[in-house]
Amino acid sequence: MPPLVSEQWGKEKNDCMIAGKILSTWVDGAIIVGAGPSGLATAACLHEQGVQSLILEKSDCIASLWQHRTYDRLHLHTPKKLCELPLLSIPDSFPTYPTRQQFVDYLDDYARHFDIKPRFGEIVQSASFDEACKVWRVHSIDKSKSVASQKAEYAGNWLVVATGENAEVSIPELPGIQSYRGSLIHSSKYKSGADYEGGKVLVVGSGNSGMEIVLDLSNFNAKPSIVVRSPVHVLPREVFGRATYAVAMSLMKRVPIWLADLLLVLYSYLTIGSTAKYGIQRPKNGPLAMKEQLGRTPVLDVGTFAKIKSGGIKVMPAIESLTISGAKFVDGQCHSYNAIILATGYRCNIPRWLKGEDEVLSNDGFPNCGWKGRRGLYLAGLSRKGLVGTARDARLIAEDIRKACIVG
Ligand SMILES: Cc1cc2nc3c(=O)[nH]c(=O)nc-3n(C[C@H](O)[C@H](O)[C@H](O)COP(=O)(O)OP(=O)(O)OC[C@H]3O[C@@H](n4cnc5c(N)ncnc54)[C@H](O)[C@@H]3O)c2cc1C
Repeated sequence: MPPLVSEQWGKEKNDCMIAGKILSTWVDGAIIVGAGPSGLATAACLHEQGVQSLILEKSDCIASLWQHRTYDRLHLHTPKKLCELPLLSIPDSFPTYPTRQQFVDYLDDYARHFDIKPRFGEIVQSASFDEACKVWRVHSIDKSKSVASQKAEYAGNWLVVATGENAEVSIPELPGIQSYRGSLIHSSKYKSGADYEGGKVLVVGSGNSGMEIVLDLSNFNAKPSIVVRSPVHVLPREVFGRATYAVAMSLMKRVPIWLADLLLVLYSYLTIGSTAKYGIQRPKNGPLAMKEQLGRTPVLDVGTFAKIKSGGIKVMPAIESLTISGAKFVDGQCHSYNAIILATGYRCNIPRWLKGEDEVLSNDGFPNCGWKGRRGLYLAGLSRKGLVGTARDARLIAEDIRKACIVG
């Protein structure tokens, strides 16, 4: 679907453009920021509704998170049926938990199928609603162009924020971090345990990424430890042969959340055993309540816990400080490490570029208005519900814009 952009404005909008210093490009349809799964899904649903869109993407490809910032052994944590984008299924030939590459292939096919052609290399630096002209103005920089022509302004009636919940790495302020002389990277740069064979490696952070990376390190004969600072729910990936995620969703439709939580925790206890015995406390609130209230995803165990039980992976308490050669922990232990991997998560970057919309963002920079803001602003894939949320948001947004087109 070639984006319908034109240098020609309607008469009244043209007046606004002349007042500006930068030549604006009018987008007849929605301006979507981000060509990850959420941006692609929204463009496809809009296409289905007969509405044009233009995607601005800062990277050089679609799904840059999956292509550039994930590790080799990654498979989808959630089963493929729950990761499909609207209107095109993940192929039957793919396994229940597709590999990272299979998911990227699916997204490539998806973009081709709906003829989605993002503008790559466009870093959106600001977007704001122009009250006078009643349009969204989006400013971007295209680093591939000469300095003189790097800046661009796009304008349109609808703005879809699809920059994701993982737009920027989150690095904790660890005392002594500057003094550590070994290799220190964020998990977004980690590729494979093959690079660490035989080395002593500390993984900081016990979310799904941290837990999978420490397993990968162990499989490649590194000597890995993982810091588990706060209580975390570790659940088996499957319950009676069905994806835990799917079971949780169907339980939530049938019983109160506290009961669904109780059943999941009980099943986990019976199958994988007590995690507290191995230094991993369970939170007081249940896994689904934690997800609902705090957006915290439980760990879906892909084999790490068995390695912890067998002693192949060591669990460490919180870090007090980093040292020249390793880390000092809050219980007084000190250890040297060849490498430290910070699986300390991400944050979204919306507050840095979306201007004048503070009331739709909570303190942590995440939207608090669901998928729809005001004056033609939409937010896709930012409801902390993973790819399930992405698909739902895309459908709702496209339907809403189509209605607005008819009214308009
Ligand atoms: C290791 C890992 C494993 C995951 N596994 C799963 C899973 O199994 N199931 C699941 O449901 N979810 C999973 N997730 C969550 C996953 O990130 C999302 O479900 C999915 O990628 C969200 O898509 P998105 O399009 O919203 O965001 P993203 O995939 O992050 O895409 C956002 C895009 O916006 C672009 N962008 C950002 N800022 C700008 C800007 N200023 N200007 C222009 N472009 C910009 C980025 O370059 C990026 O391409 C995982 C996340 C990680 C990190």
